[in-house]
Amino acid sequence: MTTLLEVRDLFKTYGAGDTATRVLRGLSLHLEEGELAALLGPSGSGKSTLLTILGTLMKPTSGSYTMLGQDMIAANDAELTEFRNAHIGFVFQFHNLLPDFTALENVVFPSAVRAGRETPAARARGRDLLKRMGLADRIDYPTANLSGGQKQRVAVARALMNSPELVLADEPTGNLDRASATQVMELLSEINREEGTTFLISTHDEKIAAACQRQIVVVDGNVTG
Ligand code: ADP
Ligand code: MG
Repeated sequence: MTTLLEVRDLFKTYGAGDTATRVLRGLSLHLEEGELAALLGPSGSGKSTLLTILGTLMKPTSGSYTMLGQDMIAANDAELTEFRNAHIGFVFQFHNLLPDFTALENVVFPSAVRAGRETPAARARGRDLLKRMGLADRIDYPTANLSGGQKQRVAVARALMNSPELVLADEPTGNLDRASATQVMELLSEINREEGTTFLISTHDEKIAAACQRQIVVVDGNVTG
């Protein structure tokens, strides 16, 4: 087993003084490469906060964080942006697709904009991912015309575009009906098995949690599991 990331003694407080919210309180967590893990805990327990920190979109108040052997606390913003683009994919409950653009454009554009160009290879990968998501016949549809489950599968394809080692998914099935939720979860499991991508998936859905290999629960600002 190879360590993908490790956080130790993480604290995160929002605000200060009387109105301070102490969310993470000495949280430590270790993820191995290739894990498929659920992140559980009541609403307000700090799941999104933890995912945002692991995604290097926000620094903790204190604590250490290394991923792929690199120090995510010492890194500056430019280094973090580069690291994130290369190694981390995100899926959110609200997918933030561009409605007037096609499924393929939504998958390919973000990485093309970052790279400063759009290559035929990138378009080929985008098409391939959409096919794997069961969207072969929706590749050139504007996403405004897709169902909720289809949109979320486009968002999953977008997150996988750069072959990230880690995908952080924040309630990815929170807006979906049971059948669509199951389908999205099956696709995540398949990518995990076939490509060894590590997933950390926050969810309130017991069936989604049970489909993961590991259940991590946020309790009192720390985690168990
Ligand atoms: P979860 O995702 O488990 O529902 P969150 O991480 O979103 O939990 O929130 C944890 C706590 O931190 C909540 O009490 C929430 O109100 C608070 N919180 C989250 N984001 C902010 C913020 N940007 N500013 C102030 N408080 C916040
Ligand atoms: Mg949340």
